[in-house]
Amino acid sequence: MPSYAYFHKQFVPLSEAKIGIMTHCLHYGTAIFEGIRGNWNSQQKQIYLFRLKEHYQRLHNGCRLLKINLPYTIDELCQITVELVERCGFQENLYVRPLAYKSSESLGVRLHDLDDDFLVFAIPWGPYLDIDKARCVVSSWRRPDDNVIPPQAKITGLYINNALAKTEAISNGFDEAIMLTSEGYVSEGSGENIFLVIDGKLVTPASYNSILMGITRDTVIKLAQNELGIETIERQIDRSELYIAEECFFTGTAAHITPIGEIDHRKIGSGETGEITKRLQEIYFDVIQASNPKYLEWCTPVYKK
Ligand code: PMP
Repeated sequence: MPSYAYFHKQFVPLSEAKIGIMTHCLHYGTAIFEGIRGNWNSQQKQIYLFRLKEHYQRLHNGCRLLKINLPYTIDELCQITVELVERCGFQENLYVRPLAYKSSESLGVRLHDLDDDFLVFAIPWGPYLDIDKARCVVSSWRRPDDNVIPPQAKITGLYINNALAKTEAISNGFDEAIMLTSEGYVSEGSGENIFLVIDGKLVTPASYNSILMGITRDTVIKLAQNELGIETIERQIDRSELYIAEECFFTGTAAHITPIGEIDHRKIGSGETGEITKRLQEIYFDVIQASNPKYLEWCTPVYKK
């Protein structure tokens, strides 16, 4: 089935959406991206885009950082995305990739005096970390501080840090990297936030620990509180706390909730998926497919009835 893109203000087949070789963002990483999930509900024959508005809110914030003028409101971006995914007609889980970028075909490192553009496309995409449990390693690559490159925004150029960590982890036989802050506290995975279970409570790095404020992270904090009565503590986490946590898992739009079985050759808990992680996974998968009536406002249906 052909995919489509919204590119230069129109819907075109994905294969026809091309940018020039001098485009600014290609050279200097001057773009903001997002990753949004469309989750297929086979009983309802419907795709639900999860927390669409929140993703575009984060994109808008990133654009302010990079001085990208987006000629669309958040509502318009949501409408464009629904129409795009509807045109694609997929009947499976998918991933939507919006990109707001410095589009001038002009060289020179800067953010000013450049044109901006926005594109979005959708592709079928199943599990990201295609494993039951991740084997992880603490990366030798550190997360940049807010005064180096703000990690709170999905700036394309920033992701070379994540790519270095991911490839190092894979090359050394692991599934995923866990990065530390410049001060040596736990930050996040290469494309996921991280949670620990300590004394039956959730513990996760705070906004000041060089993390992206994940939308799945926020979802899990709310679901744990509302559905399981489990509180989340957002705080600085020592590296050694990783090894003695009762449970540990990643969260992310692509990775959903992925249990962590092992870190630096030490089993987390029994090495199997922990009880709290398992319960959160069950609740989360119902919620993202719009099977839980309490959270329908997070799920945007794509196909008209
Ligand atoms: N951290 C990083 C570095 C990421 O790239 C992502 C994926 N967007 C996340 C965390 C998780 O964020 P979200 O739950 O919003 O996808």
